[in-house]
Amino acid sequence: DVRVRIAPSPTGAPHVGTAYIGLFNLAFARAHGGKFVIRIEDTDRARSSQRSEDAILRSLRWIGLEWDEGPDVGGPHGPYRQSERLHIYHEHVDQLIAEGAAYRCVCTPERLDAMRQQQREAKQPVRYDGHCRDASAAEIEAAIAQGLPAVVRMKVPPDGVTVVHDAFRDPITIENSQIDDQILLKSDGYPTYHLAAVVDDHLMGISHVIRAEEWISSTPKHLMLYEAFGWTPPVMMHMPLLRNTDKSKISKRKNPVSLEYYERQGYLPEALLNFLGLMGWSMPDEREIFTLDEMTEAFTFDRLSLGGPVFDLQKLDWINGMYLRQLSPEALAERLQRQLIQPKVDRLSDPDFVQQMIPLLQERLHTLGDFHTMASYFYDTPLAYDVDQLVPKGKKSRETAKILTEVSEHFQRHEGAWADAELEDAMRSYIERTKWDNRSLFMTLRVAITGRTASPPLFATMEVLGRETCLARFEDAIA
Ligand code: ATP
Ligand code: GLU
Repeated sequence: DVRVRIAPSPTGAPHVGTAYIGLFNLAFARAHGGKFVIRIEDTDRARSSQRSEDAILRSLRWIGLEWDEGPDVGGPHGPYRQSERLHIYHEHVDQLIAEGAAYRCVCTPERLDAMRQQQREAKQPVRYDGHCRDASAAEIEAAIAQGLPAVVRMKVPPDGVTVVHDAFRDPITIENSQIDDQILLKSDGYPTYHLAAVVDDHLMGISHVIRAEEWISSTPKHLMLYEAFGWTPPVMMHMPLLRNTDKSKISKRKNPVSLEYYERQGYLPEALLNFLGLMGWSMPDEREIFTLDEMTEAFTFDRLSLGGPVFDLQKLDWINGMYLRQLSPEALAERLQRQLIQPKVDRLSDPDFVQQMIPLLQERLHTLGDFHTMASYFYDTPLAYDVDQLVPKGKKSRETAKILTEVSEHFQRHEGAWADAELEDAMRSYIERTKWDNRSLFMTLRVAITGRTASPPLFATMEVLGRETCLARFEDAIA
């Protein structure tokens, strides 16, 4: 049975890397009729928070991932939060100690610091020197009885090699002598990532570990633990990291990586998910726009490329634009209302307004967030004018005011429908009577009506705004 998982640590904002890895876990699970599990790795007591866990689950659901088992939905292998499984780790650590595969260590931070200092000076690799491994059980017991805090370390075999068989790579061989006697259980009774991940992956029946490449260096340690427990390890699969165009890893110190950021900017969840599906992977027909269902149906890791997918925001904008244009005006208005927090736009609940205005903008939107910048003149009254834009180059402001007054009077007398074609005809009849060149005239008009020099087609915009608003704006512009 295929059972896969993601195991986010609730130590910050929901990371786009978590959604990326989650997507490939989910697609793989669905393609094999398997299960997709979320486990919360909150073993770092100082950095973990419930708030972060809630935000991560919320964002993963927002982007469209669904899980079969997890801390919020339960399941047969729970609890799914590591802080609720401490007794399980303790039992397993006791077992390792009893079998001689792990040992208690009472070295003080001062001793460890001095040891590392010495190793650095001697240009030796910095790692635990085995001081407590060689101590007798009685010595350790005595130290603990005196109140020294103890951790549990893994007894790494000094000789031999560990071979990592990653499904996407050639075998990687590591000398055991290169591996530290790492800590399995901390002095606060919490497990480290290595112990907890291995114990849980085994007890939760995980068949394939699909995670980011940055964890590949932890894998030998994990394999040693499987060996020590006498368990068969899952299939290991390490996905390429998301990268910037300069090939550096995208990271929270340099890039916006929070899913909440992308939500706020107005990316549609299905567009972001589609974009993540293109990271190192392609559809059999190379098509770039596809749904999660389509991806799942076509899914195999055969078309995974390890070459460092580029997290290209321009590409994301392009994909998001494609999805935005597929929406009906009503659906787009609904997304704007739902996803954009500020400011709320009352007119978006007016169906006539939506029908008329949204199609004018839809071609130009990359994100929902563009809406406010591009459409604010539809609902902002009065507009704030920039005089330099209103008055064309080479014209005087008195001249401009005079022209605007004439145009305004001309439109006041307009008796035809206040509609795109009729307004354009009316304008043409005015143009024949003025000395101004068309370019300058249209620019002034556009700025008077929209407050900016670029906008959707002018007369269609005037139609949507309606007679009252347009005439009022001429007045405001003249003033
Ligand atoms: P950063 O490198 O952004 O500072 P991190 O690795 O410390 O982040 P975490 O919050 O631990 O950040 O990352 C959350 C999850 O996202 C982890 O599972 C991590 O493997 C994954 N992840 C982080 N960066 C990337 C990346 N560039 N590509 C793919 N996955 C990533
Ligand atoms: N808690 C780790 C993380 O933050 C899990 C890594 C793994 O998948 O083993 O991603």
